[in-house]
Amino acid sequence: MNTGDRIPDKRKYLLENFGRAMQEGWLEVYYQPIIRGSSGRVCGEEALVRWDDPILGVLNPAEFIPILESVNLIDRLDLYVLEQVIAKLEKFEEMGLYRVVHSVNFSQIDFFSSDIVSEVKQRVDVSSVPPSLIAIDVIESACSTRDEAVLSKLKEFHELGFQVWMDDYGNGNFAPVLLQQIHFDLLKINMGLVGQLRVSKEARIIITELVRMAMALGIEVAAEGVEDDEEVEFLTEIGCIKLQGFYYCKPVSLSDILTRYKTGTQIGFENPDERD
Ligand code: C2E
Ligand code: MG
Ligand code: MG
Repeated sequence: MNTGDRIPDKRKYLLENFGRAMQEGWLEVYYQPIIRGSSGRVCGEEALVRWDDPILGVLNPAEFIPILESVNLIDRLDLYVLEQVIAKLEKFEEMGLYRVVHSVNFSQIDFFSSDIVSEVKQRVDVSSVPPSLIAIDVIESACSTRDEAVLSKLKEFHELGFQVWMDDYGNGNFAPVLLQQIHFDLLKINMGLVGQLRVSKEARIIITELVRMAMALGIEVAAEGVEDDEEVEFLTEIGCIKLQGFYYCKPVSLSDILTRYKTGTQIGFENPDERD
């Protein structure tokens, strides 16, 4: 559909309708599983938001997140996504299903808001979800600024019992020495690097060494953007225990996950009590 005539200024439209999009449920959280290679089971899920607009159709995050960041509204979106994740985990508990850790993407801009940690904590405190089931997912570039606002808040999240994950690792200018200062539970290797595994010896060496370093430091590693057998084989061989990508599953809506459950096509969830 050509929406140009009806919505000449998409940015203005999205900003005007952001509040409504949350209220009406146009903002929908999709979930992409993270698989433990050794068991083939789901050991985590990442929350990825979509804007299903009645006029514009389904928009990917790249189409609206930079706009919300530019006007400091991104924390409202990220907290909304957190609320949906909490509601999902509570639903799973009611249904007697296993609950695996869920990562929520937090923009660097969120860390400039002085009360982001308490906003997150409040929402988790009034729920039946322990903070250990929520991972604060922050991209590498946000961590590499050495900005005190980011570093101190990541520390607070860790001390409150949340998991702290670094997204897109290996892509930017994060100095490994910062791993001494920030506690990360998991580093997620950038999908650009993973995508070069088949064609680049250098990429294979870099990933092998990143995994080795993280393991020696007691930090888990996941690879994102895994798309084929060869990548799975290589990553498993070098000890990258967690894998995420279209090879296993694209991000899907909660209703799709529940349908897959009913039809027996959902990849099994790991029992957190029986984990190695
Ligand atoms: P990300 O956090 O690194 O998420 C991974 C992106 O890669 C997702 O795109 C996912 O659909 C895509 N992906 C996963 N596996 C594969 C694969 O095997 N191949 C390929 N080609 N792509 C794969 P998506 O959902 O479009 O999200 C893009 C980015 O938008 C995310 O990157 C994240 O930085 C941001 N984002 C998404 N949801 C949120 C949110 O709720 N809040 C904030 N602040 N940012 C978000
Ligand atoms: Mg992410
Ligand atoms: Mg990523």
